[in-house]
Amino acid sequence: VINDSLGHPVGDELLVSISRRLQHRIRTGDTFARLGGDEFVVVMEALREPTDAASLAASLAEQLAEPFTTAEGAILYVSVSIGISLFPDNGQDAASLIRNADAAMYHAKEGGRGTYRFYTTSLTDAVNLRLELDTRLRGALEREEFILQYQAKYDPNGRITGAEALVRWQPSDRAMVPPNQFIPVAEDTGLIIPLGEWVLREACREARRWLDEGLGRLTVAVNVSNVQFRSRHLVDRVREILGETRLPPELLEIEITESAIMEPVQDAVLHLDGLRSLGVQLALDDFGTGYSSLAALKRLPLQVLKVDQSFVRGLPEDKSDEQIVRTIVTMAQNLGLTTTAEGVETPAQLSLLRSIGCNAFQGYLMAR
Ligand code: MG
Ligand code: MG
Repeated sequence: VINDSLGHPVGDELLVSISRRLQHRIRTGDTFARLGGDEFVVVMEALREPTDAASLAASLAEQLAEPFTTAEGAILYVSVSIGISLFPDNGQDAASLIRNADAAMYHAKEGGRGTYRFYTTSLTDAVNLRLELDTRLRGALEREEFILQYQAKYDPNGRITGAEALVRWQPSDRAMVPPNQFIPVAEDTGLIIPLGEWVLREACREARRWLDEGLGRLTVAVNVSNVQFRSRHLVDRVREILGETRLPPELLEIEITESAIMEPVQDAVLHLDGLRSLGVQLALDDFGTGYSSLAALKRLPLQVLKVDQSFVRGLPEDKSDEQIVRTIVTMAQNLGLTTTAEGVETPAQLSLLRSIGCNAFQGYLMAR
């Protein structure tokens, strides 16, 4: 339309302006090219996940939302439709990848201008869901949609010794979102930092309430995500929150995952020493599922190993699971650590774990 009404030179000028604008949004190292006519191609290398392509597509579309002014002062509006194909799922070579991106682009056009589509509808749906989750999650903290649930922990005599705080997201207008769906998104967007602080504060407040109500010296265990663990402010925050809630530090147990302590170990030692100096207990969560180096384990100021439920699930029938649990418990004892078994669901599991020498138990058998 522009070529026909304003002439080819204006059309060419517009194409140049468009490429300049889009160029700013392309990541360094990616390829941006004009295929012909009014079609452009972006090759994103080393894509972490499909969502990254969707984010770029959305940002490119946003770049073109503002009108263009030509040298002669004409104001031109353009819109964009974007199709995305992924290597290797949607094609093994350039030709098939471009062809499938093209097909996806026609779907995008049908869906209304200014949108993007993946080659497969299911991927488009999944990515849209994820991006929608992202948007909703950003406001969820202010809307007070998070809640904590507590799973009690028991000693071998069946007495409650404390509980693990588990965060849940309950949007006001729909079903509860499971943590494995929203925690990764919160980690990606950085929301995990304020969310993590909220969880810590709420859990400490609650444990203080248990103490005040005379329920005994119950510990509260709080899961700290890797992102939160690596943040410089964690130690200061924990100190502040303990002060604010007047919870005795030894009643707070911080659970970190194996991946948090991996890289680099010196940093993990530093952070853990900082936390430990506050007097809180430190537990290594989901032990045995990651890549804990035994050398690292020895250097870390931990008090508790949590035996992952994937080993508990097979008990008592699976003999290798039993051997693994025995080994973990023996090793923990030799290192001066206690063990907590999680995911205990049957009386047979409980009695076996008790005979092996686990110190604490949690799971649906005793308390949901
Ligand atoms: Mg945990
Ligand atoms: Mg766990």
